[in-house]
Amino acid sequence: MNDSTTIVSRCDATTCRFNSDMACTAGQIEVSLSAQQAQCLTFSPASDAQSDQPSAQN
Ligand code: SF4
Repeated sequence: MNDSTTIVSRCDATTCRFNSDMACTAGQIEVSLSAQQAQCLTFSPASDAQSDQPSAQN
């Protein structure tokens, strides 16, 4: 058993809908590593209720 509930222990992206008190609540995320920076590809703005983004699903 893995005792960690998420791979991300702390996230600064408080504008993300999955961010709860600096912690990621998304069950699974995708992260892109470039140089020394990690960018979360799962980031989703919390205030997108008005936007209807087209979903790209294959
Ligand atoms: S989905 Fe990504 S950006 Fe959003 S809280 Fe989790 S780690 Fe942070």
